[in-house]
Amino acid sequence: MGLKIQVLASGSKGNCIWICSERTQILIDAGLSGAEITRRLNKAGGNPRKLEGILVSHEHRDHVNSLGILSRRYDLPVLINQDTLSSLPPKIAPFSQTFIFKTGNTFKFGDLHIHPFSIPHDASDPVGFIIKENNNSVGICTDLGMATKLIVNYLKSCNVLVLESNHDPDLLINGPYPWELKKRISSKHGHLSNIDAVELAELVYHSDLKYLVLAHLSETNNHPKIVEALFAEARQRNEWSNLKVEVSTQNIVGKPIIL
Ligand SMILES: [Zn+2]
Ligand SMILES: [Zn+2]
Repeated sequence: MGLKIQVLASGSKGNCIWICSERTQILIDAGLSGAEITRRLNKAGGNPRKLEGILVSHEHRDHVNSLGILSRRYDLPVLINQDTLSSLPPKIAPFSQTFIFKTGNTFKFGDLHIHPFSIPHDASDPVGFIIKENNNSVGICTDLGMATKLIVNYLKSCNVLVLESNHDPDLLINGPYPWELKKRISSKHGHLSNIDAVELAELVYHSDLKYLVLAHLSETNNHPKIVEALFAEARQRNEWSNLKVEVSTQNIVGKPIIL
């Protein structure tokens, strides 16, 4: 096995992705309760005692809810940048150990090479990640209002891409959220719409991209069937015949993706 990626949960009620290489197992974000993440990890065939750390994208609660609980219970280092650490919601820290990374600087953790890159989102120093092991590369890019050139360039190197497809613009505009929240979600520091996600996927697609996982779908302003249909159409139009497309959801543990 090279790399295994499994989305344990994705959406505004909690996010968590499990990544395993030959030697290193980590979680990216811990947005559900500690008990629920443990339950889902067990269900997927994992064991929290075999984890070596938790990598954090940004401080919003749907990404950090049980960060401290899991870190303390399983003696896990939390890998985080300084501004995110300083902006955590109350009662998330302390951690058993903390490893501070710098946005834009690649670091090695076990046999994983992790590159955190800046994304535009309404948090202190939010990041996406490129995670490499040997010749395999995974991109994690959720919670962003728009794709910068830098982001497009990074994502062009991935074999697996977990990409936000947050909302259907019509459902958002006509939906129940207050106007201020609608404005925040659709802003350049909010979340990618389904259309934005298709456009970004078209920009970054290359023949070595094997899996595209659509993530962080809004339960109120989107539906997996809408995303599936849009990407099935994009896949056909762009002749992405070798690309497998999955849609991850809030309540169901995703399929393992093995590179
Ligand atoms: Zn989020
Ligand atoms: Zn967020």
